[in-house]
Amino acid sequence: MTDPTGAHDLLIAGGTVVTPDGRRRADVLVDGERISAIVEPGAGGSAARTIEATGRHVLPGAIDVHSHHREPGFTHKEDIVSATSASAAGGVTTSFAMPNVQPPPNTAASLDAMLAMYEQKAVIDWNINAAGTVPSEIPALAERGIAAFKVFMVVDTGRDYPHMPGIGVHDHGKLLEIFELVGKTGLPLMVHPHDQALMTHIEHGFWDRGERDYRAYAKAYAAYDGLIWDTAAALLLRLQRATGTRLHLLHTQTIGVVDQLRAAKSAGQAVTAELNPWALFLGNDWATIERLGSYALSYWVPDVNTEPLWEALRDGTIDLISTDHAPHTREEKEPGWTDGWKAHTGTPSAQFYVPLFLDAACRGVLPLERVVELVSSVPARAFGLADKGRLEAGAHADIAIVDLDREFEIRDEDVLSKIGWTPYAGRRIRGVVTNTLVRGREVFSDGAVVGEPGWGRQARPA
Ligand SMILES: [Zn+2]
Repeated sequence: MTDPTGAHDLLIAGGTVVTPDGRRRADVLVDGERISAIVEPGAGGSAARTIEATGRHVLPGAIDVHSHHREPGFTHKEDIVSATSASAAGGVTTSFAMPNVQPPPNTAASLDAMLAMYEQKAVIDWNINAAGTVPSEIPALAERGIAAFKVFMVVDTGRDYPHMPGIGVHDHGKLLEIFELVGKTGLPLMVHPHDQALMTHIEHGFWDRGERDYRAYAKAYAAYDGLIWDTAAALLLRLQRATGTRLHLLHTQTIGVVDQLRAAKSAGQAVTAELNPWALFLGNDWATIERLGSYALSYWVPDVNTEPLWEALRDGTIDLISTDHAPHTREEKEPGWTDGWKAHTGTPSAQFYVPLFLDAACRGVLPLERVVELVSSVPARAFGLADKGRLEAGAHADIAIVDLDREFEIRDEDVLSKIGWTPYAGRRIRGVVTNTLVRGREVFSDGAVVGEPGWGRQARPA
């Protein structure tokens, strides 16, 4: 190991270093792309460059395993540069792209083309969750350094975006085949749970009554206390048990799914689950849905679920937080006032989710150490990123420095996503990201993205 008293490339001085084990004031020494030592304040010797962090907290950078970067195919709303820049501003150091792009990465050829784009354009580290919808391609996709496969069980009625038919699977036999083949690769399978047969019946009930606005859309997806989510999760957990394939369940939002996860985990099943920020800061407040219409919808999460979801984050039933960052333009959201099914589903969050959870920690809702686990250490472990998600000698210097004493207002004009709006605008929260470093290099510093496209590297599982 490097001599901690010698000259270093970078010194992050005097901050409070936070790990899952606790927090302490310390200096972080960085050489090249890695942390070389964490030492008592002042004990580290000289460095070519110093970031003064006194009074601030030093966290491992967030690892967002579920983000919609929209490139290729939908770059009018986001692209690799804008998505990874917005992420950098939010303290995210690694972001995994979801495969609902055009063409989708469900063949080796289309994945290779996408990998080449990311190598040129990403500001932070990245990976791509390949679509496992072409069974014969699954083995070749797995050889390209990906960390997971993703399928949507959604095959939307009357829409071809964001869940295009080419990557949606709701035939149970085909799902079983995909579980079997992904299982052979050893990689986890991420699934967006959905039950289209139930949804078709539910939707027609609303439509037959002439109810089509954003309220009807919100209520359809939450119908019968989350019936579509609960039944889909039950199927997926059973397929997991049948095949042994590691399942990563997306969009946890109902008490029913939380209960099933608890049972599956106590039975030793290989399942991880994520929560997305909209479930606790947006879609669980009906007044916000009334105010913002489709701009607030990902999904409506009736408030009865809120406390059980926080509890599941605290006790580990939900393993991690990822964004489900899903930018859409205002033009794509506006139709929702009269027809919720014509608006594109999803909400942007890459830039502000870490501050929202830091604010929750400041309010005592979750311990700060648990926030660090949920946004960084656990996603790193769950997806095999051995160099990431920890502040320790030898790990990548992927770091977010945050000021928990500073309050700020989330504003549309500060949004770095191409779409230029955020459903969280107007909120005042505590927890400003002041610096983000990826492998020792600053990519965001005091309000400006300073990273360069192409610095980001594929975060391959070990
Ligand atoms: Zn998503």
